[in-house]
Amino acid sequence: MKVILFGAPGCGKGSQAKLITKDFGIPQISTGDILREHIANQTEIGKVAESLINNGQLVPDEMIVEIVKERISKSDCKNGFILDGFPRTIGQAEQLSSITKIDVVIFIDISINEVERRALTRRICPDCGKIFSIMEKYAEVCDECGAKLIQREDDKREVVRKRVDQYLAQCEPLLKFFKKRKVLKTVLSKNSPEETYVDVKQILLQVHAKRK
Ligand code: AMP
Repeated sequence: MKVILFGAPGCGKGSQAKLITKDFGIPQISTGDILREHIANQTEIGKVAESLINNGQLVPDEMIVEIVKERISKSDCKNGFILDGFPRTIGQAEQLSSITKIDVVIFIDISINEVERRALTRRICPDCGKIFSIMEKYAEVCDECGAKLIQREDDKREVVRKRVDQYLAQCEPLLKFFKKRKVLKTVLSKNSPEETYVDVKQILLQVHAKRK
């Protein structure tokens, strides 16, 4: 099953992807995580992506499409995958549809106020990648591996504004694009990932049954 998770930055795509992976055994492909890994390793891609990401800008379509194309050709994607953070532009969506056929796009609907609140209170473990919300429970170190939590550069106020504006500019055209292809399903973002996942799972079970 090939799934796209779509929604504003901080709407909980990453948390949903992890729950889907656990239940359906398909890997999460987070383009943001892949780019952050490139930055950490200071690869050629990482060098280009770093300043763009820290300024709340998108990396060029050609670069991100190549990354995704290569990733989905790996053997762990033979039964499907979850795209988290891709496509983000019509150009990316068009190129993706020429590479593979997506079964469902799940749009996680959330208010922009909530997006800003979540991003500003999000902390991340630099070692294991676990995500924390200091709004829900204050924490300074990771409860899994003990590392000191950090705030992503792009979760800082000014950058969050730019990311949200950038998302809003692309959101409607992309929703239209997915709707036209009859693959769009919408869920409302609830208070916890587990609550949101009840609706996400329901949709995926239906899609899964139809594919059989
Ligand atoms: P994310 O973790 O998905 O919020 O991504 C972090 C940042 O990586 C974004 O703000 C963009 O700068 C970059 N990025 C991630 N995915 C894409 C994409 N599909 N297209 C362009 N830039 C991306």
